[in-house]
Amino acid sequence: MYGRIALIVLAGCLAAPAWASVQEPTRRQWTLEALFRRNVGTREQQTTAFPPHKVIGNIWYIGTESLASFLIMTPDGHILINSSYEANVPVLLASVAKLGFKPGDIKIVLGSHAHGDHMEGDAEMKRLTNAQVMAMQEDVPALERMRPGGKPHPIDRVLRDGDTVTLGGTTLIARLTPGHTKGNTTWTMKAVEGGRAYDVVIIGSAGVNPGFVLVGNKDNPQIADEYKQTFRVLRSLPCDVPLASHPAMYNMAEKYRIFGTNPNPFIDQAGYKAELDIVEQVFFQTLEAQQKAATK
Ligand SMILES: [Zn+2]
Repeated sequence: MYGRIALIVLAGCLAAPAWASVQEPTRRQWTLEALFRRNVGTREQQTTAFPPHKVIGNIWYIGTESLASFLIMTPDGHILINSSYEANVPVLLASVAKLGFKPGDIKIVLGSHAHGDHMEGDAEMKRLTNAQVMAMQEDVPALERMRPGGKPHPIDRVLRDGDTVTLGGTTLIARLTPGHTKGNTTWTMKAVEGGRAYDVVIIGSAGVNPGFVLVGNKDNPQIADEYKQTFRVLRSLPCDVPLASHPAMYNMAEKYRIFGTNPNPFIDQAGYKAELDIVEQVFFQTLEAQQKAATK
């Protein structure tokens, strides 16, 4: 009898709604498609502003419900990470205005990687802010092909792995985490709060999108090795505060809901490791499936 109850309870867990898995991320076996959908959300979630909010120290969230954009505030102006889709530029700037700032207060525009949902808005953002746009060298060719409305993609400074970007006393370090794109960039920085400095990691992406070819990829034969390199880099980074190019990658909505409690819920060392476990597991399961299919 006891065994049967336990079985029913277990079955209930497996059928739990998606949000339950966020609290116990390592328990769920993610598929590539489910993880991709979790990250990108619906079209409506991609274009609807999430309430702009403080994360920790001088880091603020100004993105939409499923596409993350961050404003790093400094006394000499602000650094924006991710201009998002071009259509989202007014949405982001409305959130910046809500925080009391003008477009011209943004001095530097950085990005997570050369996909439209994170960096398509660079040209429009530069037109409205006159900010310097900086991008990882390996992503430059893909960015140069990203021309919404025919506009050339602005790149004022080309970055290499380990380069620093400094403004008003805040320094970000660009880490090359390739695979998802050639120049996928994970940003690290320190955030100071309550007299303590916290290691912040803004993950570019280590996700495998539907349709990505990991085996026999003629355009990028090294792609699987790049992903493996990225997991090594990400696991080597000290991380107190995990952030990412999609808010679902760090359970933003739930943390925002309880923000104001002590300690700051965005401090989540275990969440960083749990997310890496999920993404790495999906990568290896996809790689093995493609390797099997290739040898048939
Ligand atoms: Zn992407």
